Amino acid sequence: MTPSFTPHIQMLPDAVPFIGPETLERNSGKKFSVRLGANESAFGISDHAQQAIRDAANRQGCSWYGDPENYELRSLLSTKHNVPMDNLCVDAGIDSLLGLSIRLFISPGDNVITSEGAYPTVNYHVNGYGGMLHTVPYRDNHEDPVALAMAARKHNARLVYLANPDNPMGTCLAPDAIRTLLSELPDNCLLLLDEAYLEFMTGTHSLPLDVTDNRLIRFRTFSKAYGLAGMRIGYTIAHTDIISGFNRIRNHFGVNRLAQLAAVASLQDTQFLPKVVRQVEAGRQRIYTMADKLSINYLPSATNFVAIDIGSAEQAEAFLSTLNDAGIFMRKPAVKPLSRYIRIGVGTASEHHQLERVLSGIVQES
Ligand SMILES: *Cc1c(COP(=O)(O)O)cnc(C)c1O
Repeated sequence: MTPSFTPHIQMLPDAVPFIGPETLERNSGKKFSVRLGANESAFGISDHAQQAIRDAANRQGCSWYGDPENYELRSLLSTKHNVPMDNLCVDAGIDSLLGLSIRLFISPGDNVITSEGAYPTVNYHVNGYGGMLHTVPYRDNHEDPVALAMAARKHNARLVYLANPDNPMGTCLAPDAIRTLLSELPDNCLLLLDEAYLEFMTGTHSLPLDVTDNRLIRFRTFSKAYGLAGMRIGYTIAHTDIISGFNRIRNHFGVNRLAQLAAVASLQDTQFLPKVVRQVEAGRQRIYTMADKLSINYLPSATNFVAIDIGSAEQAEAFLSTLNDAGIFMRKPAVKPLSRYIRIGVGTASEHHQLERVLSGIVQES
């Protein structure tokens, strides 16, 4: 007899949301030599964070539970963002916070709007809680705030999900576009604004913080710019009423104690973030230069990856499989019209050098 899952879980296909590079390595029996497919940082972690982790490899750091209030981290974040601590909730990364958000607002049958081909983790949570997903297409390689608002009104949605900057295309929207989207949402509908790549949005402004708006939840993470993806720590910035909802349901010891220490130390190391942002900007330029040299079009990026245009989904698939076979882990968007792109993570100069060797070989043969 199969266990009787809830009705909406029974309807879900057997699946995992991400095929990790480790799975691909096990399948092929070969290790990747360059890992540029998961938007992980190539520039390490703060020295202060390293020291904090080393110092905590003991009973106090590992045998004790972490502070369930994440007090010290929220206090530093409060100063950094100039918002009260009561407007911050820390949890084990954005992915976990997205799950809590769905659980807070979505009853089975409630509607959620996202973009076709957007960051998929939110979809996985919506399905898991019995929500109904509706998608709108990208427009000119951007998520389309006008279409998102229209779909939200049409379906009387409870939530709209938008990543800005966007993954997988690396594009970003101006604050006005997001303000308009907010103003056009139906009553009782919130915007989940995923800002995982916000730190890399150099030269453009993000929407100013306004924690009096109770229709907006903003998601931030230590996974990308701070290089702590494996430690699992991120946070939301939102109205106190929304934060109090998160506090009712979150896993109070869900944040790893070492992650708390590493995040605190990373914020205290004020030199670290600007340095990484400069390295990522230089890395994007290296990718643009390589693409120009190989006559490949690309989308200017506000993130730590660049989407390059291979011309067709079939050809992009073929390029990707040759790259993976050559030991270079990369990913590509799966759905049209984004699927003719391949996403190149910003790596070190030497990683880009290896990539360029393989990619120029492929271009010459195609
Ligand atoms: C990488 C990524 C995340 C994951 O964030 P975590 O804090 O590691 O869970 C969330 N959203 C987007 C758009 C991402 O690309």
